Amino acid sequence: MERLPKYIRSSQGKLWLTEDERDNLKISYRIKNVLFEETSPYQHVMVLDSYDFGPMLVLDGVVQTTSMDGYIYNEMISHVPLSLHPHPRNVLIIGGGDCGAAKEAAKYEEVERIDLVEIDEAVVRASKRYMPEVSGNLSDPRVHYHFVDGVQFVKQVQSKYDVIIVDSSDPVGPAQQLFETGFYQSLYNALNEGGLMACQSQSPIFHAEIMRQTYERVGTFFPHRKLYTAVVPTYPGGLWSFTLGSKRPLPAPERIRFHKNTRYANEDVLRQCFSLPVFIQELLEGKEAVSAKP
Ligand code: SAM
Repeated sequence: MERLPKYIRSSQGKLWLTEDERDNLKISYRIKNVLFEETSPYQHVMVLDSYDFGPMLVLDGVVQTTSMDGYIYNEMISHVPLSLHPHPRNVLIIGGGDCGAAKEAAKYEEVERIDLVEIDEAVVRASKRYMPEVSGNLSDPRVHYHFVDGVQFVKQVQSKYDVIIVDSSDPVGPAQQLFETGFYQSLYNALNEGGLMACQSQSPIFHAEIMRQTYERVGTFFPHRKLYTAVVPTYPGGLWSFTLGSKRPLPAPERIRFHKNTRYANEDVLRQCFSLPVFIQELLEGKEAVSAKP
């Protein structure tokens, strides 16, 4: 390969993507080849064919989702809110350019419309073409694509959605504003009376402060909130958090009924994902994080 794409380096004839997670932690993936590379107005977009995880979507050098484990995250960010809402008809997905969350939402026959608001059209184009295991073919007529900033989009709507899924990248670049307080106010306003939202809220190990801050900010506007977790192998530290905000009291987990064609989420997983280990409970209570220092 004559010119190595950004973030890719060659060592002893082997290609590597090294995720520069923090000063003292780098995560490297051995790469077979580069399937897609483009610098969009928002970020550097790649799809890399990796040895251990198959095709993976990489934005500004950070692994977003992979063909091997993308289903875990996409099922958990979608089926928790969708199975907790009694009649999800109008769904909004902010971010989610790999189309995995939209694929999961489309499994609900009662869902009438899915607005997917992804700022970067290149991500959808690359994911559909090179990551069908994640995106599916997603020609579902209920999915409507809006290639605009989710923050601006959600400000324009009032009381429209039953479920909102904020499937954002890390809080840097265009996604930074998806973690700001005002954004959660807009989400609240965009939801119908019985509406609820779920957002990815980073790692309880490596991003404890962002997780806690997200949980607090959601609680500023939503009278009912819960944090839940799942293990995503390609996310730093594996353990990942999601924050749920609801306008109405959430049904007890044991009342969740779930029967969808999935590979990670099932009724037991959806009921138990809200059970939090002591250190996460203590983090949410405001105790000092004992997790990895930046
Ligand atoms: N599932 C992956 C994860 O949890 O890291 C990421 C899903 S998806 C790839 C994240 C998407 O959020 C990216 O495609 C990015 O372009 C999009 N995004 C970032 N900021 C945005 C914004 N302000 N409005 C809409 N989409 C945004």
